[in-house]
Amino acid sequence: MKDNYDFLVIGGGPGGAIAARTAASEGYSVLLVEKRPAIGAPVRCAEGIGKEALAEFIKPDERWISAEIKRAELVAPDGVSMIVGSEMAGSKVGYILDRKVFDRELVWQAAEAGAEVMVKTRATGPVMADGKVKGAVVDFCGKRMKVHADITIAADGVESKFSRWCGIDTAVPVREIMSSAQYLMTDIDIDPATTVFYLGNKVAPEGYLWVFPKGERTANVGVGISGKKSGPGHRAKDYLGRFIAEKFPDGKTIECVVGGVSVCRPLEKTVADGLMIVGDAARVVDPMTGGGIYNAMFTGKLAVEVGVKALSAGDLSRESLMPYDQGWRASPVGKTIARNWHIKEKFVTMSDAKLNTIIHSARAIDLGDFSTIALIKEIMKRNPLLLADLAGLMSAIK
Ligand SMILES: Cc1cc2nc3c(=O)[nH]c(=O)nc-3n(C[C@H](O)[C@H](O)[C@H](O)COP(=O)(O)OP(=O)(O)OC[C@H]3O[C@@H](n4cnc5c(N)ncnc54)[C@H](O)[C@@H]3O)c2cc1C
Repeated sequence: MKDNYDFLVIGGGPGGAIAARTAASEGYSVLLVEKRPAIGAPVRCAEGIGKEALAEFIKPDERWISAEIKRAELVAPDGVSMIVGSEMAGSKVGYILDRKVFDRELVWQAAEAGAEVMVKTRATGPVMADGKVKGAVVDFCGKRMKVHADITIAADGVESKFSRWCGIDTAVPVREIMSSAQYLMTDIDIDPATTVFYLGNKVAPEGYLWVFPKGERTANVGVGISGKKSGPGHRAKDYLGRFIAEKFPDGKTIECVVGGVSVCRPLEKTVADGLMIVGDAARVVDPMTGGGIYNAMFTGKLAVEVGVKALSAGDLSRESLMPYDQGWRASPVGKTIARNWHIKEKFVTMSDAKLNTIIHSARAIDLGDFSTIALIKEIMKRNPLLLADLAGLMSAIK
């Protein structure tokens, strides 16, 4: 380990790995630190990603693709369902990854490109000088040391503390933390090419329940509910338990994870002097779905691209790093998050009866011929009582 790096990356998830790989490929010195003893485990993810999105960063490989998805099924609170084909479902169809192998592969590629990697190494605070971030204090096997870096990238995920230690407000309102629980189940009857989403207050208040296939008879079965709806006897795991008892009573659970997903707006500031924040740590997560693998990789790469220019200019100030913040906000990622936050806010206030009506109407429409806006207009035409709700949705999408 050196004393000084061009880039110090905190966190070995997809955001940190792509940041480290990008920087190392361009010949910059990089250290990636990961607090867990192994990259990729335990998996706290349903592992779904769109095909095109993934291909921007890595060539698909069967070693880390568990299933290829052709369609999504949306199940209304009353049990009526609609199928959405790949043309409409966009990023909801694609692959279900094996993130234990996928995350490892990304970090492996970063290491092959020249990045140094240290696992079981936790950042415990920033190194500061004149109010600027100059690296991090890290703990490795009980040994504490200072690592200096020109640019520190906080890629420390949803539980991120690093940016808060640097003085950035990272608070998420409780109602915008999806409390989630997921089981990897086997020996269950599923369609291995369909992801299924269950909606409604009974299954997942202000959230949804998912079945994401990982093979012929294996799937990630999970639920996310609003943090404000969680309490004794009605926590995410209770909803999941009830669903499984009804749908997959003979299934076997071989892995169990719980975790939070932020579905709030992104941080107001994702750069400071010497600091860039990427992925879940920046809350650059789709508020509708909770999906953030692609967003983490996208922001990880963009951060380094902007960081490299700042390094060449010898100016690592917040102003010099701002094109990163502006860049992701102006990108399709930023625009989708801004739009989907409004849509999510509308949906969480909808009653089960309204959700039923929407899904009943939508399933009667030939989705292949409709854009999202055309679809909403058609549903409004068929259900004048939903006019006010859907008009709000329309203005959010436009
Ligand atoms: C139940 C659940 C289901 C999900 N399903 C999907 C899905 O289907 N599709 C999708 O796109 N997204 C999904 N997500 C979200 C997705 O997992 C994240 O958006 C994605 O992992 C973000 O990548 P990241 O690199 O920003 O953070 P992470 O993958 O969380 O990586 C952050 C890393 O930083 C490390 N770290 C934290 N603090 C420190 C520290 N102080 N020092 C050193 N290391 C540290 C952590 O150990 C971790 O390895 C899901 C999330 C959950 C919880």
